[in-house]
Amino acid sequence: MLGTSLREAAAALRRGHLSPTELCLKCLSFIRETSFLNAYITVTEDIVLKQAAEADKRFKEGKPLGELDGIPVAIKDNFSTANIETTCGSRMLKGYIPPYNATVVQKLFDQGAVLMGKTNLDEFGMGSGSTDSIFGPVRNPWSYSKQYREKRTECCPDEDSDWVITGGSSGGSATAVSAGTCYVALGSDTGGSTRNPASHCGTVGLKPTYGLVSRHGLIPLVNSMDVPGILARCVDDAATVLGVLAGHDPQDSTTILDPFQPFTLPDAIDVTNLCIGIPKEYHAPGLSAETLSIWSKTADLLENAGAKVVEVSLPHTRYSIVCYHVLCTAEVASNMARFDGLEYGHRSDIQESTEAMYSATRREGFNDVVRGRILSGNFFLLKQNYEQYFVKAQKVRRLIADDFVNVFRSGVDILLTPTTLGDAAPYIEFIKEDNRTRSAQEDVFTQCANMAGIPAVTVPAGLSSRGLPLGLQFIGQAFHEHQLLMVAKWFEKQIDFCPLVFDRTLENGHIVQRHSKSVSSL
Ligand code: GLN
Repeated sequence: MLGTSLREAAAALRRGHLSPTELCLKCLSFIRETSFLNAYITVTEDIVLKQAAEADKRFKEGKPLGELDGIPVAIKDNFSTANIETTCGSRMLKGYIPPYNATVVQKLFDQGAVLMGKTNLDEFGMGSGSTDSIFGPVRNPWSYSKQYREKRTECCPDEDSDWVITGGSSGGSATAVSAGTCYVALGSDTGGSTRNPASHCGTVGLKPTYGLVSRHGLIPLVNSMDVPGILARCVDDAATVLGVLAGHDPQDSTTILDPFQPFTLPDAIDVTNLCIGIPKEYHAPGLSAETLSIWSKTADLLENAGAKVVEVSLPHTRYSIVCYHVLCTAEVASNMARFDGLEYGHRSDIQESTEAMYSATRREGFNDVVRGRILSGNFFLLKQNYEQYFVKAQKVRRLIADDFVNVFRSGVDILLTPTTLGDAAPYIEFIKEDNRTRSAQEDVFTQCANMAGIPAVTVPAGLSSRGLPLGLQFIGQAFHEHQLLMVAKWFEKQIDFCPLVFDRTLENGHIVQRHSKSVSSL
């Protein structure tokens, strides 16, 4: 049962094969068994029992059921949850209990979803490793798969420190899904934070069009780029949850006014009339040979299926990292100003003066990545720097967005790119360099979609020679999620990637997983 998709689980609940409480208790015991992965900051056990019992009642009494009735979900700990601690992985918000639910959280609850817990992340979503949380790093569940253990690189002194990162910053959510502790999880995506960990953990990761899903209650990182993301076991599940979340929210003036029509994806998908673009600039330095190989094999696969595959140019891609850096840190500097030790969150004991309290609170409450971004951002926003950095970066952002508009105008429907440079790095390798440098390198394929506001989805494409998942990314036109997810589902069907949770059993503490097909075996 735990190896099924959300849709199958929902159908089993409706057929009465098991009750929501039985399903949720299984997930809870999985959370306990895999607690060493550190995916959850808070496990909401009381809420699980309460919400599952309410769902049991609805099923028993034949009451109208929600789309996600009785389905276990997890939520990244930067979404506000009423009466449940919401920390952003930071000392600054440790102990903070929001008085309201983020709109997306409320929408999940309104459809009967059961909250298993709040997931771990890089502090305030800043990072690409899920290694920078005051609650400790998240471990990638694939580090414990038989394939990985057999192919250990011996890079680590002892077996216990031989594990790979999840990617980030939604690494807790990706792990929660990948390890089978819930069916779907919310992440956030500002520069790749949903797609990067999804790719490293072998799950689907969808970043919707900016404005399609409400950000109300998502504690902001970069307001002009943040989007709630969906981590799911398969593309169909991501589409189902998108249908639940999407649409106008009076609390978020950047959401669309047009009604969103939820959709189900057909099983037979025809790609013959599609034009797929391969951006030539995405042959970035550091791209692994394996990723390059699955990328080009997938282009061949699409071509053989009758799609038109063309090389395209997104000429401003090379400015994206630096442009993102300026815009991100500028917005971070102003967003983080609210954390001053007065209204909520951490407050320092140093209270000689208001100034001293402010600065000590912020020094104690934020890690050095966050403080570094605040400093850079304030520098870019100084009167004498504003034009030269902030305004210029906004202009470059427009050029990056226009690159996509031009490519789509030329007749291309979807872009196919890698999601990450390669497979997940071992933790001890990753932390040799700081998360700032890593983030800048790791997000090269994902950031542009945030700057352009367009939708993108990563789909597992196979395992690397080290036995770790590799994902590929499809990027679509604004508000064309239906078309984007159709192509993603078509690809998923060709690959038949076997998520970690499917068919697994614990054998001598290792997760044994039957892996079927991948691009490399096609
Ligand atoms: N890695 C990027 C950063 O650190 C993106 C993070 C995100 O999408 N939340 O800013």
